[in-house]
Amino acid sequence: METQQLIALDNQHVWHAYSAIGADLPIFPVASANGVHLKLADGRELIDGMSSWWSAIHGYNHPVMNAALRAQIEKMSHVMFGGLTHEPAVELATRLVELTPAPLQTVFFSDSGSVAVEVAMKMAIQYWHAKGQPTKQRFLTLRNGYHGDTFGAMSVCDPVTGMHSLFSEVLAQQYFVDAPTCRFGEMSGGDEIEPLKQQLEQHGAQIAAVILEPIVQATGGMNFYSADYLRRVRALCDEFNVLLICDEIATGFGRTGKLFACEHAGISPDIMCLGKALTGGYLTLAATLTTEKVSGTISQSEPGLFMHGPTFMANPLACSAALASLKLLTESDWSANVLRIELGLKSGLAPCCELAAVADVRVLGGIGVVELNEPVEMKTIQPLFVEHGVWVRPFGRLVYLMPPYVISDEDLVELSAAVVRVVESL
Ligand SMILES: *Cc1c(COP(=O)(O)O)cnc(C)c1O
Repeated sequence: METQQLIALDNQHVWHAYSAIGADLPIFPVASANGVHLKLADGRELIDGMSSWWSAIHGYNHPVMNAALRAQIEKMSHVMFGGLTHEPAVELATRLVELTPAPLQTVFFSDSGSVAVEVAMKMAIQYWHAKGQPTKQRFLTLRNGYHGDTFGAMSVCDPVTGMHSLFSEVLAQQYFVDAPTCRFGEMSGGDEIEPLKQQLEQHGAQIAAVILEPIVQATGGMNFYSADYLRRVRALCDEFNVLLICDEIATGFGRTGKLFACEHAGISPDIMCLGKALTGGYLTLAATLTTEKVSGTISQSEPGLFMHGPTFMANPLACSAALASLKLLTESDWSANVLRIELGLKSGLAPCCELAAVADVRVLGGIGVVELNEPVEMKTIQPLFVEHGVWVRPFGRLVYLMPPYVISDEDLVELSAAVVRVVESL
């Protein structure tokens, strides 16, 4: 298909993420992707700064990942996950339990991050039901959060950016507190946790769980907050008999400098959601992990089953991709590598601090954020990045980078320099 025709048909028939049909926004057909480079249909090559939304941590077209998928496809691509089981799923579950903080013990596989969040919320509700406390059906969460696009997940997304008013008749009413302002690396004073504590005091009898993104609030504002705050949340959940759900869908698998962001605080949640980088960006797969306490309680009380079961649960291809991705990650010196990227982003983005358009520059692990004073105009800024040879997709006032871990020092310098030049030109 000719590129122009492809773009015209795309514009006419295809929805993209948070898009409009016929809006005539710039769109860039990709012909192939290799390592940290996206090759556009017109022949241009871009350095990828997004890892396809946090997922492609080993870059694209990785020979080890490709080989793992080829081997699995020759055995079976999918079988139902009711009454049948298979080695890729069992091996992956065992590996995830080993890698995540104790006492997470059991794994529920699903097909996307949003569904992993739905599953986590259902687990929390079923847990309290099984404990004879069926009034605990609501959730307490932080503003500026993002947990996905399905209805349960939406109900705990930031009410403003999640457009709650649009869906007010159907969204479950949850409890919100302001996001912590105390930055990562700082101690959080007792005051900051007070609103959360008050909500638990007032509504604890209705609250099944606190759900939050640990350390990094990603899509809802790229807020890097204090590990101390997270420790206090954990302690309050225990004090008020509420479960803690850590949504590590964006932060998991090393992105923040720890394998899982909750390790910064030395805490473990009762339920953890994983997705995005789980399969190294190859296929869609997510996992909801929980403790023996939660899974045992659900399983031993009426109805004696956890009420969820997606058609493509534990897809063997996706599980094989995840196993290969985890092997690549854990057999590499990933933590030194993420630190290398952190230092590269810090020095590369530093010139942005001087620019008039910039409100703040912050870096944590493999995440670099340039916060602007004004929201970007996507229509103009997106082609600018492409002209500068990089793939960066800002939202609102945030220009952010989370490149694949395989990015070379040279590409990292070029990627950061391109961001500086584009922001300079605003
Ligand atoms: C992306 C994301 C989700 C949703 O995952 P999908 O796979 O897009 O459904 C949920 N929570 C967090 C923290 C995310 O970053």
